[in-house]
Amino acid sequence: ALQGKSNPQIVVISNRGAYAFQERDRELIPKRTVGGLASALEPVLTDYGGTWISWCGRLDKPDLERGIRLGVPPGESRYHIQEVLLTREEHDLYYHGFCNAALWPLCHQLTDRCSFQKNYWEAYRKVNQKFARAARNIKKENPRDIFWIHDFHLSLVPQYLRHQLPDARIAFFWHIPFPPADTFHILPWSRQIIYGLLGCNAIAFHTDQYVQNFLDAVSFFYPVTIFREQGLILFRNRKIYVQALPVGINYHHFEQLAADPLVRARAQEIRQSLGAEKIILGVDRLDYTKGIPQRLQAMACLLEKYPGYRGRVTLLQIAVPTRNGIGEYGVLKKEVERLVGEVNGRYDQGQGAIPVRYRHVSLDQEELVAHYLAADVLLVTALRDGLNLVAKEFVASRIDGRGVLVLSPFAGAARELQGALLANPYEPSHLATRIKLALEMPLAEQKSRLESLRRVVRSRDVRWWWQNNLKPVKSPYTTFTPAT
Ligand code: UDP
Repeated sequence: ALQGKSNPQIVVISNRGAYAFQERDRELIPKRTVGGLASALEPVLTDYGGTWISWCGRLDKPDLERGIRLGVPPGESRYHIQEVLLTREEHDLYYHGFCNAALWPLCHQLTDRCSFQKNYWEAYRKVNQKFARAARNIKKENPRDIFWIHDFHLSLVPQYLRHQLPDARIAFFWHIPFPPADTFHILPWSRQIIYGLLGCNAIAFHTDQYVQNFLDAVSFFYPVTIFREQGLILFRNRKIYVQALPVGINYHHFEQLAADPLVRARAQEIRQSLGAEKIILGVDRLDYTKGIPQRLQAMACLLEKYPGYRGRVTLLQIAVPTRNGIGEYGVLKKEVERLVGEVNGRYDQGQGAIPVRYRHVSLDQEELVAHYLAADVLLVTALRDGLNLVAKEFVASRIDGRGVLVLSPFAGAARELQGALLANPYEPSHLATRIKLALEMPLAEQKSRLESLRRVVRSRDVRWWWQNNLKPVKSPYTTFTPAT
């Protein structure tokens, strides 16, 4: 049930939410979306009620001034969705343009891929104003509501909201890396982004490195007082808490799925269908930050240097379709397909396991956990990644105490997941050596590493994450009570 009007509610604001709308026969059907952000945030709202403001996938609705407000999940109505409508042009320039062609590569320090255009920036500002307006309208319901804004798409919203509602309580989570200030300043509008973010009361990142980078960028532009040890900025007489609080997962949910007999049977089936003694798994959106070509080169290196593995080891790469319609992503897809063909062409024995199995699909959670369970090694080779939830989900799913995590030091998760085997993805022969080490790791070492990994992932789960994020904005007078 939704909370009564007197209780302050949580208002989550993000570019995409847990639902997208599909129109069928003039009827609007909310469909679940897949992704880390949705999985992390939905439990908060289903437990406590509130509103989630997001773009729900519909374009070209100029006749409707405001988007739909709808209770979800369908039939249960535990919280509300407030839709923000975008025009096709706004979506192109703001999302494809400023977000994905400027901020995304910039923050991942892949500056050669950046394209900075004035019209991208204009659209970004306009869309951020739209989201702030939608939030402003919610605010009329209760002055004590808490706004929780998410990610680089909406960095200007805190300040827009602050101007309209000086006393608003605003938290922000930045889900991607925050690059060193030197890199960030390449963006012609970096000062405006920093100013936008300084509108909040609390801001959090995945790692302490991102926090320090952000503080460097702040102090470059503004004569603020910064208490680095305490993670505190004093900006125009307002305290802003800045913390490293990496996103957690719903640990018990993954454990439960991993214990489900149907999921376990499916894992067996996957193993058998691959016909390999050892399975190396990769699960990534097909994004250039994930280092998929580097991983394929390392596979080639492994099979070249250690021919004994040919026909016995398979890399199963799940590549989730993403950002279709952006040229660079099409180029990457072609390159990955070419490399897969090349590795298989060169090292397939004609019998036994095929070197690389490549699937361009998006899996649901049951299927995903079955894949985690089927693998001997999970290979995360990101060139740069804010965190990497897949690594945490793999760890939580391995209730059998088996399996090795090979992790890029350039994924934020490497800070927490000390029990992983770290491997630099930029050097194929080094990566191949680390993969070999993983394939040959004695069971006792696998178990002890997994145990330490599981402790971290369990103790810093999704609940830990959101409670700590909202702590600075909820005191002194808000208590969250589960909606009944
Ligand atoms: N995921 C999924 N189906 C898939 C592959 C991934 O639902 O086929 C989910 C996965 O469970 C994880 C998220 O997508 O929660 C990916 O998050 P991650 O941090 O690893 O990478 P991102 O895609 O956010 O860069």
